[in-house]
Amino acid sequence: MDLKKLASTLIPDDNLLPLEEYEKAYPERQLEKGAEVTRLAPSPTGFIHLGNLYSALADERIAHTTGGIFYLRIEDTDLKRKVDGAVESVIRSLDYFGVNFDEGAEIDSPLNKYGPYYQRQRASIYRAYAKDLIERGLAYPCFCTEDELNAVREEQTNNKEITGYYGKYAKCRNLSEEQIYANLKAGKPFVIRLKSQGDTSNKITFRDAIKGDITVTENDQDVVILKSDGIPTYHFAHAIDDHFMHTTLVIRGEEWLSSLPIHLELFKVLGFQLPKYGHTCSLMKVDNGVKRKLSKRKDPELSLDYYRSAGYYPKAVVKYLMTILNSNFEEWERKNPQADYRDFKFSIGKMGKSGALFDIDKLNDISKAELSTLSAEQTYDFLNGWVREFGTDKDRQHFADGQYIIKILNLICGIGGKKRRKDIVRAESGVRMIDYFFDDTFTPDYCYRFDKATVNSVIDGFAAVYDEADDNSAWFAKVKRIAAQNGFAAEMSDYKTAPENYKGSVADVAEILRIAVTGMPNSPDLCTVMGILGKDRTLARLSAGKR
Ligand code: GLU
Repeated sequence: MDLKKLASTLIPDDNLLPLEEYEKAYPERQLEKGAEVTRLAPSPTGFIHLGNLYSALADERIAHTTGGIFYLRIEDTDLKRKVDGAVESVIRSLDYFGVNFDEGAEIDSPLNKYGPYYQRQRASIYRAYAKDLIERGLAYPCFCTEDELNAVREEQTNNKEITGYYGKYAKCRNLSEEQIYANLKAGKPFVIRLKSQGDTSNKITFRDAIKGDITVTENDQDVVILKSDGIPTYHFAHAIDDHFMHTTLVIRGEEWLSSLPIHLELFKVLGFQLPKYGHTCSLMKVDNGVKRKLSKRKDPELSLDYYRSAGYYPKAVVKYLMTILNSNFEEWERKNPQADYRDFKFSIGKMGKSGALFDIDKLNDISKAELSTLSAEQTYDFLNGWVREFGTDKDRQHFADGQYIIKILNLICGIGGKKRRKDIVRAESGVRMIDYFFDDTFTPDYCYRFDKATVNSVIDGFAAVYDEADDNSAWFAKVKRIAAQNGFAAEMSDYKTAPENYKGSVADVAEILRIAVTGMPNSPDLCTVMGILGKDRTLARLSAGKR
């Protein structure tokens, strides 16, 4: 068969360059020895998830600790899944977590010399290489219809055979020249398939940078390399792009491990040097005692947007991911509590080989601890950033008074006090936690444990003597006095010795006042809360709190 003629009939493009020209257009990168070139290669579906951040963080750390490059390539070969603004959203989401690209799609960088970084814009290079494979008898046109392929799949499934296009099932592999041209003449659509040279009785041992040695079976599937619209499949584009963009290390999800034999063969027939691969394990969670993969449908916490909209402190999410990425990170952190996580020596060899357990409670603990290292002003800035993007109009009005919020934050975070509190988990809950300091979001639950007459008498008694200028001890002396006047023990010790002599203790009196003023039985130091609210508001609340 005249393969040259076949190649130019199937791929008639006359703008394709000789292959050496492509090699020249993408010269070796001039990097130090040991520098790793990594990439994130998402499809522009608009859904960016924790797994992407997990991989991206590993990619970014490895590239940047070895003096290499981390770039963004957009795998947009499947137009059906394309969502407008998805690329910007990937960049913005990762940037929120401090993960930045050196080059790539929509990245403003002088390093952008290996593009285009959108696969759809690289059509000619894929076509040139597919054409070359056809000329070399290593690829061929396949005219099988969807129905024919489904029928084959069904037959294979019934026979309990491996499904796919291979061996005797590869119907178009051995079409004669006449049959091919007759099909073309009849206008039948076709795809280009690899003519696999592999044999499944051969095993290949391959070293995965994360999982270690893995033995796989040689590929014998005649996979599609160019679809009928001339656009490459993932497999083909991966081999070509990672070759020309000089990726040295491909970090990707373990779901790609099963296609690895295809990639090994493609690199071989294309004559490209194989990059290193690291297949990351899936993120798992324990759900009702059962360990399972995080799912897009069931787990909102899989989406990266969730962390932004719930107001997680980005550094906490990154630190948490570092603890699951590298088993020795936590110990390093304990020894270097002040250090930036970027100073940690990230090692791909220490990445988990199987199912990384994602534990939101642990993330929450890290988040609380991280937030408790901030000053009131820094906490305000963080919460305010969230409020501006995700808060309500009321939140925005409240946060306009920075001084007032900072006073509240000093109190609720215990800043300057004996013990720094770790109550704020994330911005959303932090903002809700201070709602009661504003009348328009004050929603009291008057859950008093005493009768109406007692409640009202305690409140009236205290309101009559409240003085904003009182310090904590003067304030408390007044609460004690009100306690005694209303049949409560002013001293806890008295109450403990003879509880039957009292309605309750001074603590119960303070609780009545607390419920009236804050709407809750628990709050930070009540004297300070009253001071922040100011005399007028305190008195108004006391009065409204009467039953
Ligand atoms: N576009 C592929 C994905 O989103 C990329 C896999 C890879 O990193 O090679 O899963």
